[in-house]
Amino acid sequence: MLDAKLTSKSHSHHQTIIKLTADITVGGEDLLIIGGPCAVESLEQMEAVASQLATAPIQALRGGVYKPRTSPYAFQGLGLAGLEILKAVRRRYGLPVVTEVMSIDQIEAIAESVDLLQVGSRNMQNFDLLKALGEVNKPVLLKRGLAATIEEFVCAAEYILSHGNSQVILCERGIRSFDPYTRNVLDLGAVVALKQITHLPVIVDPSHAAGKRELVPDLAKAAIACGADGLIIECHPEPEKSVSDARQALSLEEMVELVQSLRPIAAAVGRRVLNKSKVNASTLRQSFRALQAQRPVKSQKGKT
Ligand code: PEP
Ligand code: MN
Repeated sequence: MLDAKLTSKSHSHHQTIIKLTADITVGGEDLLIIGGPCAVESLEQMEAVASQLATAPIQALRGGVYKPRTSPYAFQGLGLAGLEILKAVRRRYGLPVVTEVMSIDQIEAIAESVDLLQVGSRNMQNFDLLKALGEVNKPVLLKRGLAATIEEFVCAAEYILSHGNSQVILCERGIRSFDPYTRNVLDLGAVVALKQITHLPVIVDPSHAAGKRELVPDLAKAAIACGADGLIIECHPEPEKSVSDARQALSLEEMVELVQSLRPIAAAVGRRVLNKSKVNASTLRQSFRALQAQRPVKSQKGKT
């Protein structure tokens, strides 16, 4: 492998464990399961996700506030207002949060607000962004480029490490191929190879790979069975109404079911799904109801 000085394993058991919080890690025995919508749409949406999934249990929340969309006319994300929403749910539910950083000028605000900075597929070889993230003292989730080779992927991670940040998590999210039935092709061979070559944690995004919600749970199970250190999965309180990637979003109930179904597979490969939520399910439900009750009823002024 070309110039993978810092990402390559130095011996066969060499494995980096990255801490998102004091309790939540990735790369060790505990799986990191990240759930949430493609895009942050409102505080209510994120409250619903966090309150229902904290005890699923997921170990981190996702939600994009800067969205790399194919069309410039599509929803581009809530930006800083979305970041405030992420900060609020992070505080209230004690769950670490991940969001995408698209440019160098966004790094400071995002690094101050969240626990894990995502580099999207479209930016995997944005070398200036990678170098700048090398100077940040926060973990980075690096997604594989749409058509990146394993070597290019590893070299992209090497950029971040060689600029000083060794907290990099790799994410396989499917690669382009000829068949439009699935949005991308989930390359589990790459997961096995990356686990053999590098000491970095490797997680899988079956949502962007499949593009269809009905394919997500089985691909998630396959990913854990082949040695992935975790998953990042899109889910939404009202999946069909998602502003982006609606077709691949699971409902929150489906997400809970999926997390539970991973337990025996995790156990079979020597891993576990950690249940370390700081709050229990009934406290979460009460807190969500209290929040809803506090909301001002919409003004009826102007209506006849
Ligand atoms: C996302 O996670 O919402 C996303 C845009 O993913 P990717 O960069 O893998 O397309
Ligand atoms: Mn998405």
